[in-house]
Amino acid sequence: MLSAPLTFTGREMMNHAVQQFERLARVPLAYLPTPLVRLTRLETLFGGPRIFMKRDDQTGLGFGGNKTRKLEYLLGDATRLKADCLITAGAAQSNHCRQTAAAAAASGLGCHLALGGTPPPQPEGNLLLDLLFGAHIHWSQEKRKGENIPEIVKVLRSAGKHPYIIPYGGSNHIGAMGYVAAMFELEDQSRGEIEIDHIFFASSSGGTHAGMMVGKEMLGKNYQLHGVNIDKDEIYSMELEEYIVKLANEVATSLEFSRFFTPDDVLLHEQYLGEGYGVVGALEREAIAHLARREGILLDPVYTGRAMGGMLDLVKKGHFNRDETLLFWHTGGGPALFAYGNELV
Ligand SMILES: *Cc1c(COP(=O)(O)O)cnc(C)c1O
Repeated sequence: MLSAPLTFTGREMMNHAVQQFERLARVPLAYLPTPLVRLTRLETLFGGPRIFMKRDDQTGLGFGGNKTRKLEYLLGDATRLKADCLITAGAAQSNHCRQTAAAAAASGLGCHLALGGTPPPQPEGNLLLDLLFGAHIHWSQEKRKGENIPEIVKVLRSAGKHPYIIPYGGSNHIGAMGYVAAMFELEDQSRGEIEIDHIFFASSSGGTHAGMMVGKEMLGKNYQLHGVNIDKDEIYSMELEEYIVKLANEVATSLEFSRFFTPDDVLLHEQYLGEGYGVVGALEREAIAHLARREGILLDPVYTGRAMGGMLDLVKKGHFNRDETLLFWHTGGGPALFAYGNELV
């Protein structure tokens, strides 16, 4: 699996990092590899570059999504530390929280979720699934990025529990390993057949982006990574770009991979933020409709609808030649569609 040609000079350094990577504790949760498909009917609509999609909405666990890859490594660590429950945080319609709840159920662990907002009159979409998976919900009003996890952890510990803390979005150096692995998986699937020039994806807590950056360097690839920022709010009082760089360096350090990342290594499109996190506009609505009607593929209202909208905007504006190849990395999120009915059709 890791026999990709390494074209960079520091081949030995990369081999060492690959060895470190293969030693990490991992709990298999996802159905891998996820499909890599070509979107020919979408290509015809725009008459531009070739467009492929990596279907991480099909990772399988509890309706799938990108967090499942991160959770494989996070659960590996939780198991090593003999935790008996997981705690994490997100918005009421968090895909990350839903996949964490499913991972906890599948691993026989308890699950505590600190969710932004207040209880809705009726649970829908991801929240309904959190409850089906047996998660305990801690309603946290304006706090949707785990600001109150320490308080909840204190209460759990004093009740004799051993909680394992998963940060917002599962984005620390352990979770990001899931996307180092994903880049190796893509290399395996595409090698010798598809020459990818650009990879687009939604970026919000940074782990997917940082893991991809490190995986790309370990493989010595030249494709351009395009994160589409979908959340204008800061993360841990940092701009997202700054957090991605920090995380990529932490991932590299923990793999003893001596590549130092700087903001120049990050391409983050900031022009598609619209009215803010989770607010659907024309960009998302149109992208969701195109993919649904042309390809029978469902995007989500918060992440992939916005990221696809951004990618198609750049295609329409002629940023790519006909002989270039784009890959859209579908990161999941479909269950949130059921909480956005009125705004989508
Ligand atoms: C969390 C999420 C993302 C963003 O991934 P990060 O690693 O948090 O940047 C993208 N798409 C979907 C559907 C998500 O749930």
